[in-house]
Amino acid sequence: FLKGKTAIVTGSTSGIGLAYAKAFAAEGANVMINGFGDADAIEAERAKLQEASGATALYDAADMTRPDQITAMVERCHAELGGPDIIVNNAGIQHVAKIEEFPPEKFDAIIAINMASAWHMMRAAVPHMKTSGWGRIISTASAHSLTASPGKSAYVMAKHALAGLTKTIALETATDGITVNCISPGYVWTPLVEEQIPDTMKARGMTREQVMNDVLLAAQPTKEFILPEDVAALAVFLCRDEAKGITGANLSVDGGWTAA
Ligand code: NAD
Repeated sequence: FLKGKTAIVTGSTSGIGLAYAKAFAAEGANVMINGFGDADAIEAERAKLQEASGATALYDAADMTRPDQITAMVERCHAELGGPDIIVNNAGIQHVAKIEEFPPEKFDAIIAINMASAWHMMRAAVPHMKTSGWGRIISTASAHSLTASPGKSAYVMAKHALAGLTKTIALETATDGITVNCISPGYVWTPLVEEQIPDTMKARGMTREQVMNDVLLAAQPTKEFILPEDVAALAVFLCRDEAKGITGANLSVDGGWTAA
């Protein structure tokens, strides 16, 4: 149902971002993927997306710490694919340390990538969406947009801000056919999470099961990881006509974490 539409997904070379790109491609959208990684692996994913969509998939290497590159990516998308009709602000990084030990450069990077890049993406994309009279803006926030954990000051600050930005731009675009929402996952089963397990097993002398239930899923009442595909399915729903009344929302997909 997205044939003729174009989506940009930031940070889509892996994890949740790649799942969004695959889900939009499966609905026939043109997709522009973005993020870092091995050039051959990225090209292989791009080719698969293009084949799956029957439309066009392009890769853009814009660094989300660079406003000029973000704007250039949106304009390149407009020139080469049209739109953008859908943008997903998804690129994100994490650093865990107490505030007195937190490197200021890590703070700056988290604020730029997880928060400010979404503002620059919206600033560049909204005029195109207003011209066409239709748009969907989705940001991957986090359970940490609603609650906090020690050691994650920069991340929690950035994700709370993303939820505030979402509400503001939803109000600014409310009569333009544009919806603006964020999705707030709990722990999602991505390579990033999986790779932490062996080290945590060693560091804490725990079994794989104990690390999963007592460390990673400690705050997630369902005791199950969220799947990237399930997050992407919600994003696809937000693009449907039936979702036109959902705007300014922060939608939790967190196994009950923030209900507790
Ligand atoms: P990931 O590490 O698999 O993916 C992050 C993506 O961002 C990658 O494609 C990476 O190349 C890209 N990226 C990093 N720095 C960039 C930069 N400067 N410019 C452009 N791209 C950059 O992580 P993920 O788990 O898929 O996370 C995606 C989003 O979901 C993040 O915003 C994260 O905060 C959020 N999130 C993740 C979880 C989880 O449990 N995995 C939970 C809640 C929210």
